Amino acid sequence: MTKYYAEPFKIKMVEPIKMLTREERIEKIKEANYNVFGLKSDDVYIDLLTDSGTGAMSDKQWAGIMVGDEAYSGSRSYRNLIKSAQDIFDYEYFQPVHQGRAAEKVVMPIFLEKGKVAISNMHFDTTRAHVELAGARAVDCVIREALDTVNYHPFKGNMDNERLEKLIEEYGAENVGMIIITVTNNSAGGQPVSMENIKKTSEIAKSYNIPVCIDAARYAENAYFIKKREAGYEDKSIKEIAKEMFSYADIFTMSAKKDAIINMGGLIGVKNDAEIFETVKARTIPLEGFISYGGLAGRDIEAMAIGLQEGTDFDYLQYRVGQIEYLAAKLDEAGIAFQSPAGGHALFIDAKKMLPQVPYYEFPAQTLALELYIEAGIRSCDIGSYMMGNNPDTGEQIESEFEFTRLAVPRRVYTQSHLDVIVEALKAIKERASDLKGYKVTWEPAILRHFTAKLMPLE
Ligand SMILES: *Cc1c(COP(=O)(O)O)cnc(C)c1O
Repeated sequence: MTKYYAEPFKIKMVEPIKMLTREERIEKIKEANYNVFGLKSDDVYIDLLTDSGTGAMSDKQWAGIMVGDEAYSGSRSYRNLIKSAQDIFDYEYFQPVHQGRAAEKVVMPIFLEKGKVAISNMHFDTTRAHVELAGARAVDCVIREALDTVNYHPFKGNMDNERLEKLIEEYGAENVGMIIITVTNNSAGGQPVSMENIKKTSEIAKSYNIPVCIDAARYAENAYFIKKREAGYEDKSIKEIAKEMFSYADIFTMSAKKDAIINMGGLIGVKNDAEIFETVKARTIPLEGFISYGGLAGRDIEAMAIGLQEGTDFDYLQYRVGQIEYLAAKLDEAGIAFQSPAGGHALFIDAKKMLPQVPYYEFPAQTLALELYIEAGIRSCDIGSYMMGNNPDTGEQIESEFEFTRLAVPRRVYTQSHLDVIVEALKAIKERASDLKGYKVTWEPAILRHFTAKLMPLE
């Protein structure tokens, strides 16, 4: 039997949701041109589009909203944020910003320019964009096991450190502007990075005098996986583990919309380099606003100060990651394939296995996402050929290595019963999977088509 760790909270305020009838759902998805991004949120029953900014704040965070200090300078909320962040990361300097990509916009050009590269276990898409906007190139260097969706590996998010050294030699250390460790590895499905791996990456970087940046969106989930899976950490607290993780880096950029459980916010941390921090501040002022608010209201900063701490609570993390593990175990029992082991924030269903008759150019993962909406009003998204789009040179559809339908689970939002609805829906789809047909694109923009493209079911 799969253990479900019961919610370590009770519910004080509710947000009603409603499942439309099947006929209505069929109509709504057609009106949305068979694009989940075109659906109105009111027409969605369970929204698994993303775990970013969709979490539920606690009573303490909402109380923080009321006592937030909106002073332009010297705000109490800012001081509370610095204190809270220092307690977790043990860095000297912090700069709030309005979200993760704003942190990247401030930080990347300090280390990167034309002719340089950034090497990462895997760049998140906005991180890659900001590396490239700074004029540099982004190189991914994740371990090979990350590409194997079936076999177990406890830390599929790890950097391939052997290859990292080869890449540094190849590009020349002076041309590697920074090494970015993404925890957990979002693009690899929320897979964790081990402490041993972070430490080794850091040693390599030091030996070549290259700065290390942690992309810290899921600092707490990664620490939780280290506690559960890495020898020597079982008795350490989440905060002790986080402190050690961050001790191996020089700087971090963070989207606080994930593990800090706020709806908007971001943070930059600088371990101890006063000169770098001066540059961070100087860049933040024109891009984001004065240093004590960085594009946020004082109340949001207060909520971030509290959320950073709540994100590190062991009982919360056990329930949080436990939800994904529960979903995974239930689907396993039903013979539905997914990327294994389950990641920290999402489950990636293997649509290629569920819909083998739908070829990549008819978008199996998108087909499954649409079917999930039709079946039970669940919104997920395609991480596969539909998202990849066309080759910019030839205009031909790219064949993605994987066809995943991603179920991203918001924090503290859905209950066990909601998860059961998801499982039942997938089981029902599996029953009639062989009858399902794919889709074709009838209109698409030149780039990032998956957000706005229009599709049509194939006969
Ligand atoms: C979400 C995310 C970002 C970008 O953050 P935003 O707050 O969406 O701008 C960067 N890196 C990772 C790993 C993320 O998950």
